Amino acid sequence: MGLTGIQIFKLLPKTNCKECGVPTCLAFAMNLAAGKAELSACPYVSEEAKALLSEAAAPPIRPIAIGSAENVVKIGGETVLFRHEKTFVNKPGLAVLVSDAMPAAEIDAKLKRFKELKYERVGLILRPEMVAVKNESGDTGKFETLAKKVKAETDAALILISASAEALTAAVKATADRVPLLYAATDVNSEDLAKLAKEHKCPLAIKADSLEALSKLSDKLTAAGLKDLVLDPGSRTIRRAFEDQIFIRRAALTQKNRSLGFPTITFPCEMTKDPMKEALIASAFVAKYAGIIVLSDLEGESLFPLLVERLNIYTDPQRPMMMQQGIYPIGTPGEDSPVLITTNFSLTYFIVSGEIESSRVASWLLVMDTEGLSVLTAWAAGKFVGDAIGAFIKKSGITEKVKHRRVIIPGAVAAVSGDLEEELGAGWEVKIGPREAAHITAFLKVNA
Ligand code: SF4
Repeated sequence: MGLTGIQIFKLLPKTNCKECGVPTCLAFAMNLAAGKAELSACPYVSEEAKALLSEAAAPPIRPIAIGSAENVVKIGGETVLFRHEKTFVNKPGLAVLVSDAMPAAEIDAKLKRFKELKYERVGLILRPEMVAVKNESGDTGKFETLAKKVKAETDAALILISASAEALTAAVKATADRVPLLYAATDVNSEDLAKLAKEHKCPLAIKADSLEALSKLSDKLTAAGLKDLVLDPGSRTIRRAFEDQIFIRRAALTQKNRSLGFPTITFPCEMTKDPMKEALIASAFVAKYAGIIVLSDLEGESLFPLLVERLNIYTDPQRPMMMQQGIYPIGTPGEDSPVLITTNFSLTYFIVSGEIESSRVASWLLVMDTEGLSVLTAWAAGKFVGDAIGAFIKKSGITEKVKHRRVIIPGAVAAVSGDLEEELGAGWEVKIGPREAAHITAFLKVNA
């Protein structure tokens, strides 16, 4: 159980110096207890108090990492029930299930889709990150071979699933450098698996038939020194599983229940045989509140909506997605190529650059820092106006890349052209581009 606000307050300096951003130490203590502040925001906490406060300052759901450096899946670390309260932190890992009882061709096809199904959106690569390797055959050798194959052929973060401690031991020895998640400790095998997880420094999933039993198992393993646990409440109907996810999140956040303060793993693949229904169940767990979602297969038509849903929910609503300010060459532009300017809101950049690419007219795209605002919003906020744009163009270095002095501005801010020409000075020509990005291609073909 975490400390209360009053207990935390007693450990703070009580000088009300306001450096943490709130007016009093009491307000800071309350925020800390509610998971709405970081202890590091107060520079005056003593080392002794820091040690005592570490439990209260720790996220109510423990952050856990699965996988190796190139593809680490971080789950947990959440501090709020609803995204609009602050932000969700670590998106759920999406996994595809392969079993050692499957025909080799089916395994190969699944791994091929795992590797190929990647999508670029707003500068990010959206993809599944995990492969769950299941020991269905009961044969230790087959399981170990499959785990080795998945490790060799993919960069996936691995989930090793077996009821046999012996099979898990063989598979984890072959894949320990990938820091796999071991699934799953139960009342029957928890001591063996706890030993294995400790020995190889791997996170351990725990499974029970009820939340009460899960809490007890979690306490037992925590007392045995295991810190990185992933919870499976065992429910395999959508209603029970959905209720359990919400109960676990609420218990961890609002009741500060440390027994359930771990990320969860869900198995839509075991809840239906209908692929579309499976995708719908998975989409519910993306929103509430899975740490890992295991799918029976990956198909573009169901995977892509899940990836986009996940991106939307796990994007910090308080921070617009931004590009770095600078000059972006599209194609291989030269000294006569057109120069266009836009703002650094990621979506704006990717739409505009995509349209320029489609035109096949090599161009220079100037991206100006407007704190992530889109063109019209930045203009309305006074951040994308004539004098500011002019000052940016002059210091951008574009005059060293082109010999002409023409710049194309978005048609939506045509009103700034006069001020911009004045700011840029003699010799510069400001051309007004189309209002809609969709018309850039046609515009460039005529005006380049
Ligand atoms: Fe109190 Fe520390 Fe905040 Fe100052 S910075 S008001 S000492 S909690």
